[in-house]
Amino acid sequence: MKSLRRMLLLSAVLILPAYSQAPASRKVYMVTDAEGVDGVFNWKEQCRPFESPRWAETVKLLTGEVNAAVDGLMAGGATEVVVADLHDSSRTLSTLDLDPRAKLMQGSTLPPKLGMDSSYSALIFVGQHAMGSAPGGVITHSGSFVIDYISFNNKKVGEIGTRVMLAGYYGVPTIMLAGDVAACKELRDLVPQAECAEVKYGLSDDTNGTSSGVSLSHAAACKLIREKAQRAMSRLSEFKPYRVAGPYELKVVFKKGYQAPQATKPGSQRIDDRTIIYRGDDLIETWLKWGWL
Ligand SMILES: [Zn+2]
Repeated sequence: MKSLRRMLLLSAVLILPAYSQAPASRKVYMVTDAEGVDGVFNWKEQCRPFESPRWAETVKLLTGEVNAAVDGLMAGGATEVVVADLHDSSRTLSTLDLDPRAKLMQGSTLPPKLGMDSSYSALIFVGQHAMGSAPGGVITHSGSFVIDYISFNNKKVGEIGTRVMLAGYYGVPTIMLAGDVAACKELRDLVPQAECAEVKYGLSDDTNGTSSGVSLSHAAACKLIREKAQRAMSRLSEFKPYRVAGPYELKVVFKKGYQAPQATKPGSQRIDDRTIIYRGDDLIETWLKWGWL
């Protein structure tokens, strides 16, 4: 009896450390876009899927950056990386060229919440551009070139802010961004300790897709992205999810010459031809009244 107890105790001692050393699941959600990729300055020439004359080059550039980030995340302790293809109707990336350790989320009917949930440990951005009219930005826009600006609880937001909030809603912190200098600044306004890989900066931007600027070489951009992704992942415990207290008010202002949609949904109000407001008590529901996150 005594020896059985000793044996049980001994086996518990032997087994327990094995359990405590098992790596915790660290699953990363990677938002990808095209306009913030190194070497990309012109939407018409480089960002329209299968139509732009330089489209194949853009795919190659984004793929290189994505794989560099996957490599860095894995080196920093990620156990799984899901790469979300979120540029223009989700048809840019290919499983053929993806780092085999990553998975691809793709499809023109991706749900508005983009498959985000609380199973993720972190969110990062690759190829990200800044919100419309951001100073020093490249191909700046907030979802679409017809939108002047979007504000959420009186703070201007672009695609960076919406996705940081979406992740935060599910308790997922945003830890890193690769993109132009203005996009990096935009993330740091929300998450000051975020790691940023600044791959280019803007010299001019007409806010309709035509920009100029200075970029790192693709090889240098990938090296930087790998380093920042690894560092962000190894610092994961320092990050908290970005949460915004309700109630919520989302305002969308269209550019001159464009019309805001009619206020058909409950909690919506059309202020003038170009402005619509959506109100709600739940962050996601408020965004979904507008349509996308
Ligand atoms: Zn975008």
